[in-house]
Amino acid sequence: MIYLWLKAGHIIFVIFWMAGLFMLPRLFVYHQETAPDSPENDLWVDRERKLLKKINETIEKIDDDDYGFCEACGVEIGIRRLEARPTATLCVDCKTLAELKEKQLGG
Ligand SMILES: [Zn+2]
Repeated sequence: MIYLWLKAGHIIFVIFWMAGLFMLPRLFVYHQETAPDSPENDLWVDRERKLLKKINETIEKIDDDDYGFCEACGVEIGIRRLEARPTATLCVDCKTLAELKEKQLGG
């Protein structure tokens, strides 16, 4: 029972955290006073769109009770990692591996 409350608390924390991630770039844009039609603004809008997509995917995962598990190997993603990056879909090992592969393909 306590575990359920902890889990619910964590999900609420994650949603607030993600909302923070979503809002911060916006505040930053206002702070910079980027012109609405400038390339910088397009970049921010693009980033926001990608982040929003990730947030939606993460919320779907929470709904499916599938949140917090690695998409590649199924291992539970550590709570520390999720706190740092709530939209993470891979565990540290798989993420490192994916980054290595990306580097090999890119280089
Ligand atoms: Zn993994």
